[in-house]
Amino acid sequence: MKITEIQSGILHVPTEKLITDSQHSLDSVEVVICTIKTTDGLSGLGFTYTIGTGGLAIKTVIDTIYAKMLTGSDPSEIKDLWLKMWNKTHAVGRGGITSHAMAAVDIALWDLKGKDLGQPLYKLLNGTKKPIPLYDTNQGWLHYSQKELVRSALSVQREGFHGFKLKVGKKSVEEDVSRIRAVIDALNGKLPVMVDANQIFTRSEAIRRGRAFEKLGVLWYEEPLVADDLLGHADLARELDVPVAVGETIFSKYEFGNYFKVGACDISQQDVCRVGGITEWMEIAESAEASGIQVSPHFVMDLHPSLVCSIPNGMFVEYIPWLRKMFTDPPIVDRGLIFPSDAPGTGLEISKSALINFSEATRPT
Ligand SMILES: [Mg+2]
Repeated sequence: MKITEIQSGILHVPTEKLITDSQHSLDSVEVVICTIKTTDGLSGLGFTYTIGTGGLAIKTVIDTIYAKMLTGSDPSEIKDLWLKMWNKTHAVGRGGITSHAMAAVDIALWDLKGKDLGQPLYKLLNGTKKPIPLYDTNQGWLHYSQKELVRSALSVQREGFHGFKLKVGKKSVEEDVSRIRAVIDALNGKLPVMVDANQIFTRSEAIRRGRAFEKLGVLWYEEPLVADDLLGHADLARELDVPVAVGETIFSKYEFGNYFKVGACDISQQDVCRVGGITEWMEIAESAEASGIQVSPHFVMDLHPSLVCSIPNGMFVEYIPWLRKMFTDPPIVDRGLIFPSDAPGTGLEISKSALINFSEATRPT
């Protein structure tokens, strides 16, 4: 079997409500899809996303570099094709646009392999079918009032989720603490609570707030510092007892490896659509395991279940359901658990209505 064609396209998928954290505000996600066709008539689907910037650049890398380079190759030789993409573009970008573009192609190659062998992704990855606990991030936004946060946390608890994450980064530490305490008190300490700073703090502020957060008993302290500050994270992880979680803004196994080597995090949150796809995600998970670090991936709840049930150090999948509406058959969610798909490949196909309703042409101006 050989690759005959690689095509890409861009969709704009609405989030249904305004989303804010300490750095961003958005109402839709930009999704770059990648379809790989073969001489056997099979086709694989991959995708990546941005929070609104860079989709066209990602599509251009796929169309003008990877598509040309991989057409005519055997799609089953995934690692070799991954290395070809990496070697071709690493001098102009080892992470970001290129790793997103690689992810869309890599996910399509795995989808194709599963369809060719008639096996679901978790089986290809030597995994076991099992439900993965979900924690909710979709109701803990920074612009919510304390009252809204408490109401959200209680509804998340009623729905059976296994954790509730709220954004931090209000002007004062007292305000952050008050919001976290109100949530923990309302939940009666019965549901783990995580906090996420989205890289907003300076080193001294991150330590000051971290000391306050850990006294409240939060499960983890996510992205306290800018992701490039490896040594700052190492100092913070040494200083605090609360586990430090990072990874949604780290793009390769080399960068993750540096975090693991110097003890700069306790939880790894690699995102399959940002780190170059399933191939790289699995290598990061193995490296984390060897370093005694757990994995709780960022976003992409429709693909991550198959990956988390294929590793021994997985924790949760993050419930943010924005992309579910673009798939014909997203993974089943039931009482706070999510189940990996049993369909051959990733089990994910873009619906016709998503192709029509979320296309560039139908985007509101
Ligand atoms: Mg985060």
